[in-house]
Amino acid sequence: MLYQPPLPPKYTDLAPDELARRIRERKSFFGKKLVILGHHYQQDEIIELADYTGDSFKLSQLAAAQKDVKYVVFCGVHFMAESADILTDESVQVILPDLSAGCSMADMAHIDHVEDAWEHLTSVTDATIIPITYVNSSAAVKAFCGGRDGACCTSSNARRVLEWALADERPERATGQRKVLFLPDQHLGRNTAYDMGWPLESMAVYDFRKPGGGLTDEQIRQATILLWKGHCSVHQLFTAKQIDDIRALDPEFKVIVHPECDWTVVQKADLAGSTEFILKTIDAAEPGSKWAVGTEVHLVHRLAKRYEGVKTVRLLSGIQCLCTTMYRIDLKHLLWCLDELAEGRIVNLIRVDPETRTLARLSLDRMLSLIGTGAAKTARA
Ligand code: SF4
Repeated sequence: MLYQPPLPPKYTDLAPDELARRIRERKSFFGKKLVILGHHYQQDEIIELADYTGDSFKLSQLAAAQKDVKYVVFCGVHFMAESADILTDESVQVILPDLSAGCSMADMAHIDHVEDAWEHLTSVTDATIIPITYVNSSAAVKAFCGGRDGACCTSSNARRVLEWALADERPERATGQRKVLFLPDQHLGRNTAYDMGWPLESMAVYDFRKPGGGLTDEQIRQATILLWKGHCSVHQLFTAKQIDDIRALDPEFKVIVHPECDWTVVQKADLAGSTEFILKTIDAAEPGSKWAVGTEVHLVHRLAKRYEGVKTVRLLSGIQCLCTTMYRIDLKHLLWCLDELAEGRIVNLIRVDPETRTLARLSLDRMLSLIGTGAAKTARA
């Protein structure tokens, strides 16, 4: 996690309304030169001030599509700001309002560990290994995949990317000549591969904390899908028992979860899919329907508010499943970086070095070239 110095007291003492008023002033001062992006998991007060809201990749694409933009302020986490920097023109400056807004999942795949794992895996097997990384990863890991004929994926298109990576390999007649190393989220990898028909026995978890990934050479040679032992600290809080409990409470509830949840949760849920899929499903649902949602609490509460009195939307868990790093982005930090910008100082600039940028872009472009051919929208529906 990067260090964020404390803010001057003039920001910490301001009331939320005043902070919001000053941010609006700054926005009109910069006009089209500035775009503020708000990830779905941000607090409501940030979402209200964002020019665009969405998931991380959609936001980066939107930023790249803007004409005349000089500054992108990404209200999200570090890897998202890196993706925006990779996808936007080099003249665009991408700012993260709080440098300590990282992602525990992305941090679980440090490039040094990934390189060590690759060296070990390629020394154990002659099979072709295609590295696939979820977009929730550092630019260095995306570049690693781009430089080794791999690709990036999102939770919306993970299936399509896995199908491409495994080429002619099929669950019913796997030759073992092609494998995937799926980074950094074991759950998205497992849920997606299982949905494609790959049995759990065809997968092995590579634990980067253990020698040899905690696997025997034979286990590595036998596996088709090698899952990096990473997870989202928010989505792992949802459990199959919570689904049982909610159904016992009211059988009318439908359960919809994100595929970063554990496999047992995804199997038990009625529906599973990306954040955009969750939003679209609930938007399109019948009035009177009831939804228990397994994803970050801010998004769920916003949905509950939007449909109050029309549809019932609640968090699947009884405890607050909060992304604490996303939560670090607040009005104070947003105003601070805009004030600094107005004074001609760029703070918290996120800049990916040129070599990493080129290779990371390759992994994103490979993914984009695949999407047009039919991305899967649900892990289980
Ligand atoms: Fe990372 Fe999970 Fe937070 Fe998303 S919700 S930023 S994957 S820790």
